[in-house]
Amino acid sequence: MFKILVGEYIDDEAISHLKEAKDIKVDVKIGIKREEILDIIQDYDALIVRSVIKVDKELLDRAKNLKIVGRAGNGVDNINIPEATAHGVIVANTPDSNTVSACEIAIGLMIASARNIVSANNFIKSGKWEREIFVGNELFEKTLGIIGLGRIGSLMAKRMKAFGMNLIAYDPYISDEIFKRNGCKKANTLDELLKKSDVITIHTPKTNETINIINSENISKLKDGVRLVNAARGGLFNEEAVAEGLRSGKIASFGYDVHSVEPRSECVLYEFENAIATPHIGATTYEAQRNVGTQVVKQVLNGLHGEIVETAVNLPSIGREEYLIVKPYINLAEKLGKIYFQIEKNPISNIVINYYGEIAQQETALVDATAIKGILEPVLKEEVNYINSRPLAEKRGINISINKKDEKYKNYASAIEFVVSNEEGHKVHVVGTIGINGEERIVNIKKHDVDMAISDNMIYLGNDDVPGVIGAVGATLGKAGVNIATMNVGRRDNSAIMLLTVDSEVEGNALKNLRQLSQIKWAHYLDLKL
Ligand code: NAD
Repeated sequence: MFKILVGEYIDDEAISHLKEAKDIKVDVKIGIKREEILDIIQDYDALIVRSVIKVDKELLDRAKNLKIVGRAGNGVDNINIPEATAHGVIVANTPDSNTVSACEIAIGLMIASARNIVSANNFIKSGKWEREIFVGNELFEKTLGIIGLGRIGSLMAKRMKAFGMNLIAYDPYISDEIFKRNGCKKANTLDELLKKSDVITIHTPKTNETINIINSENISKLKDGVRLVNAARGGLFNEEAVAEGLRSGKIASFGYDVHSVEPRSECVLYEFENAIATPHIGATTYEAQRNVGTQVVKQVLNGLHGEIVETAVNLPSIGREEYLIVKPYINLAEKLGKIYFQIEKNPISNIVINYYGEIAQQETALVDATAIKGILEPVLKEEVNYINSRPLAEKRGINISINKKDEKYKNYASAIEFVVSNEEGHKVHVVGTIGINGEERIVNIKKHDVDMAISDNMIYLGNDDVPGVIGAVGATLGKAGVNIATMNVGRRDNSAIMLLTVDSEVEGNALKNLRQLSQIKWAHYLDLKL
């Protein structure tokens, strides 16, 4: 039974969802005082907060059973992320909850300003009627420049593709694959996007690089009659400079939901009919508000049930689509990781993870982390999870090197290779891939090519390459009541190995009997259950 403390408001539907879960006991204490949390937090496995409860070192030190903190919302300023990571506590927020709403308001502002919808509305309500003064522009076949191709930027791309717009995007922090996937031409520089776009929308966070990214100098590089939209963060567009652009006619319109100062009653942009504003209502939809609750609950339940928490902030965040691509490799990596300590006993000094082919194009932080978890789990008494696995390994002096290779491993479209070595100079080298039916496969072990689906129970044998070995192994395991499901042999120079999948766990005696066979050099049972 897991205990969850809900310390700040979340939607009733989300609370009911928690109450319905069989292995969950939930205590709802909205507005709980700090002293009380500190007193009771050791009893809880999960804590759900918004922005008020401070999850700091003091709280985390006391939270002996805490596995996950769910933040209903986006910002995590109230949570000490490095401390949470050091305590092995997952911190998850709900960045996707308002993605659609935010994208839709940006599109709304874009269309409303391109077609003068707001001024036309005000005009006819004042009792007048005219059409000629409201001539606008179609978006069809215009070039849309998207600055920041993250969650909202990519949604924007997909939606505006359907409007027949040509898409160009600038985002120096993502792979070429993401531009391709979203049907966007990649702008190598911001200037390239500024010069080519008829309409520009921004979807970046507010950072030192993005504050005032649209300023007087950059406005001078824009096409005449450009239309601008900002539904990301106030201050990304310099309001004085935009006002000057609107005054001179360089900028045809500006639609904005976010402001350099919020709330406010005056702004240099208010005098312009073609600058239309909303009071930061991007996330203000019933759907977004409901999503915050349901998403935080989903993440918390995933965390408690040992599943991947997609929105964990103590790892680089990953979009839904990318997550679906890397998901099969997450389990594969953990299983490959589990092999080392079942073959070797010496402490690890180095872990090298090489990605080949298509998987090398993806954000693999989650795969790296679960691989390291798989490697360390058998020997670490401290709780290791995919959040703290890498820092724990580094704390133990293990060098970690992650490499992405453009080339394929043999002829596999994607593969992951592990080389785990110890100070004695012994290496455990394994390579795995995902098969065409989505099954996890091991394709090389200790430099011997094999190709077999991974199962929960496997046996790894080294043998003399002589006749009769297969029969002897089959007979020995048969006597021990172990049924062989599949068998694969690998040969290299004078050495040979066998990899077996078996239907049950293998007891010590069966292994001992295998090792006593004259042709067998070593025999290891590999327990690869997750
Ligand atoms: P995200 O993290 O998924 O994506 C941000 C993207 O910006 C990333 O791909 C990143 O690589 C890119 N980026 C960072 N610095 C950049 C730079 N200097 N130049 C170009 N690209 C850069 O974020 P998201 O969820 O898509 O949110 C985007 C913005 O929308 C955020 O600022 C968020 O606060 C805002 N937002 C506003 C509302 C609203 O109510 N109006 C609602 C939700 C989100």
